[in-house]
Amino acid sequence: MEATVVKHTGSHYLLTVLPEWALFPAVLRGKMRQKGSSATNPVAVGDCVEFTLPEGLQPGQMPDTENPAVITEILPRRNYIIRRSTNLSRQSHIIASNVDMAFIIVTINFPEVKLPFLDRLLVTCEVYGVPVTIVLNKSDLYGPEHRERVAAFHEIYEGAGYPVMDVSVSEGTGIGALREACSGKVCLFSGASGVGKSSLIKALDPALNPRTGEISQSHLQGKHTTTFYEMYRLASGGYIIDTPGIRGFGLVYLEKEEIALYFPEMLKVSRDCRFTPCTHTHEPGCAVKAAVEDGIISYERYSSYLGMLEEEQKYR
Ligand code: GDP
Ligand code: ZN
Repeated sequence: MEATVVKHTGSHYLLTVLPEWALFPAVLRGKMRQKGSSATNPVAVGDCVEFTLPEGLQPGQMPDTENPAVITEILPRRNYIIRRSTNLSRQSHIIASNVDMAFIIVTINFPEVKLPFLDRLLVTCEVYGVPVTIVLNKSDLYGPEHRERVAAFHEIYEGAGYPVMDVSVSEGTGIGALREACSGKVCLFSGASGVGKSSLIKALDPALNPRTGEISQSHLQGKHTTTFYEMYRLASGGYIIDTPGIRGFGLVYLEKEEIALYFPEMLKVSRDCRFTPCTHTHEPGCAVKAAVEDGIISYERYSSYLGMLEEEQKYR
């Protein structure tokens, strides 16, 4: 039988057979723990798994912690998002798998979004094949002095191909549209702390109360903690995986020549570059640089790209 992993408590996993939401505990079959993977967690939230029921279970009876189900196989992942503790560390944690849409929450102010940070998250999602919608929260706080920056933000990111939704938890603006966008999907919520992720989740479904436990940094250092990522069900349909923590995710290893592949608007024009591969920095006849000069590619995105090029070089 197949089920989806919605939570890892430390001693066991909680599974449900979607779209039903009837959670039951399961453990890993012993030898699966040994399987080679650099991730600290062999099974991630969002994983589809094969399981068997414990022996002696009566019809209609659910497995419980004394008699948990047994996970026998992890089915191939459609995609997944990994978080590393540092750029140099080998250790990684799979935050979530089989994600239909990542919602990256940002604010123009309170706190001010750092575009290079956002662009790194976007590159990560592109690398892992997860579609993104950007949610611009706290629109109630933006006065006339922010209007230009909000318009510029829309232009930069919609121009790059990402939908941008204006939302205000405080005023309820855009919450219905966001609810609709989440419907029927497994959604990852991410963004810097303070942008309103937990407020948004509560606004989408008042019955939910995320953030019962923060992800401890020490977990990524290999110590044992009992807080993990978790999937929630929205009453209106759809599922949310919250990613608390300051950095969320966003560190990926890429070769210099690879980075531009994950800026969709650059990828599109780069086939017209005179040289292949082209780093889109100093090469003559570079179509990307021409597109930046013509305003087809935003200068902000291009400078994030240059920043990433430089940073990747630092670690080589
Ligand atoms: P998280 O760290 O991303 O989970 O952010 P929180 O949900 O804890 O929100 C951080 C702060 O922003 C809290 O004080 C919220 O009340 C506030 N906040 C969240 N959404 C909005 C909004 O739409 N407008 C305003 N003015 N404040 C908001
Ligand atoms: Zn080029």
